[in-house]
Amino acid sequence: MAVPAQNREPADAAERRSAAAVTVYRAEQLPPYDRAFYESVRDGMIRVDAITVPPRDACAFEVPAGHLFRVANVAGPQVGDLNLWNAADLSERFYSGKTRALHATHVSTGDRLWSNFPWLRAMATITHDTLDWYGFDQSGAGVHDVIGTRCDPYTHHLLTGADYHRCCHSNLTRAVAAARDLPLAKAESHVHDVVNLFMCTGYQRGTNQYFMKASPARRGDFVELFAEIDLLVALSACPGGDCGAGHSSDRATCHPLGVEIFRPKEGRLAGWRPAPPNGYRGRHGVK
Ligand SMILES: [Zn+2]
Repeated sequence: MAVPAQNREPADAAERRSAAAVTVYRAEQLPPYDRAFYESVRDGMIRVDAITVPPRDACAFEVPAGHLFRVANVAGPQVGDLNLWNAADLSERFYSGKTRALHATHVSTGDRLWSNFPWLRAMATITHDTLDWYGFDQSGAGVHDVIGTRCDPYTHHLLTGADYHRCCHSNLTRAVAAARDLPLAKAESHVHDVVNLFMCTGYQRGTNQYFMKASPARRGDFVELFAEIDLLVALSACPGGDCGAGHSSDRATCHPLGVEIFRPKEGRLAGWRPAPPNGYRGRHGVK
């Protein structure tokens, strides 16, 4: 709140505040994470491609359904801003808000990255996270944030009046434009709220303001995901580096990110099918 409250508490304020907190979407309502299946798929998987994302830049790459990809801190602590699309239709894309509502403010092994309406299906499943030990720390912060958006030149201009062209939003825009041979404005319209891989964030106690702190990731840490549908992926190595101080400038120490793509061993996907679109028919009450 930008100004102190202007209205007095009602007499029953304490009673109103004491209403029970109800988890909106309970974990047991979601399709279960079949740990044995995903561990079997990972076991002995074959690396088929590797990409290096330069600091303060982004790359786009495709991951076929049933393949896995890893994003790694290959040189030092580095936040990665991740966008996902259906490779066959870029209007289907990662839905940060619903992923947050279905799982939590931060995601880790067993969580899914969900797509927007009307598809609302798992685009990818996190199959391994070397930072799963971190949990939520004493300040309430966690790693792999789905509460932030992505650093962008518009907010930077709004707050400072200056232009900076290496924000994750711009990096992702250039990567999509190059990958799909799109004009810049068209490519930009496909960029969306990200998974902030390796980013350590939370809300300040008392004010609930969004905060970041230096990523606990170290060289060798990685997040691994299983593609539930054919994916176009874009990944930006954030100009904030470990996002321990700032972003949207060339001041922070930045590192490359490593991407590896893997194919499971023969037969490990027996019986598995890519995720189908959501079963709701989209009539919205209209006959
Ligand atoms: Zn960024």
